[in-house]
Amino acid sequence: MRTTARIDHCTDSRDARPAFGITYRRYVDTSSSHVRIQADNIDHAMQALTEYIGNTQYAVTSIRQEVPQVPAVAPAAEPAPAEVYVKATAGYAARFEGLTGDSLRALETIHGSEAPTDRITPLLDTLAAWKQHLDRFEATVTDADEKTVEGLPEDDPRRVAWRAASTGMDAFLKAQAAVHGAYVDWSFDLTGTVEINDGPLPTAPVIADGCRIPGCDQHWHSDGLCVAQLGELPFDEGSSVPIELTSPEDEAPYIVAYAFDPVALNMRRQMNTQADAVAFAKALRDAADAVDEAAAHLAA
Ligand SMILES: [Zn+2]
Repeated sequence: MRTTARIDHCTDSRDARPAFGITYRRYVDTSSSHVRIQADNIDHAMQALTEYIGNTQYAVTSIRQEVPQVPAVAPAAEPAPAEVYVKATAGYAARFEGLTGDSLRALETIHGSEAPTDRITPLLDTLAAWKQHLDRFEATVTDADEKTVEGLPEDDPRRVAWRAASTGMDAFLKAQAAVHGAYVDWSFDLTGTVEINDGPLPTAPVIADGCRIPGCDQHWHSDGLCVAQLGELPFDEGSSVPIELTSPEDEAPYIVAYAFDPVALNMRRQMNTQADAVAFAKALRDAADAVDEAAAHLAA
């Protein structure tokens, strides 16, 4: 039998030529066999078959070309950039609904001074993600995408998605303005909390038993000190400048802002985003308010 290199080649999966499945019966022993042969056309396939089984006479009972396998399952169409954007940002705008300075003050009254920041922080994350999806849409959308939706009915989902994506920047800016408007309104409001019916009233700072100043964590009592942290100004590299009201036993209280190593490079706070600046400004404002209040404990 002349099974040659050609037959090996015929079964090479990297061979791009068409493949033929040939069923044949030999006259010699009437056995039926099937062989798969790769060739440019039927004639070449038959020629290769003859080479494969030798000069034995045979009858071909069927020969058919294989259906190419790769395109058998058409790849799912890539979703249009507008649809990708809409899916990724679903529900984003709703997160900013009802956000005002008053809504932050209400949160503060009910849940305490951290509540407004807790409400804002995830929204800043949403804004950052939203901007990324907008950038991605801008980078991937093509004129062809626009042309595709032009011919569609107004209420076709693809056209609806297109409208949402192409006006996405407006929606983003509106949400961003809502965050900043509410935060600034709340931050600079001097009236403190708003009246909430049946809500618990904010409690005045109490001085714990055995302490001389409010807010003392009692950590330094063993050294005869009452220490209350008023604020902390954060800098890069995890460094910070705490501001403390300290009341030593038998001495007048004092306020101190200090750093362990004031000449170190890490005593530097770089703010690249609006969120950074808002956070640092809040630390300054909170610390300033606390220092003002604590001044009452100092010598005149
Ligand atoms: Zn104390």
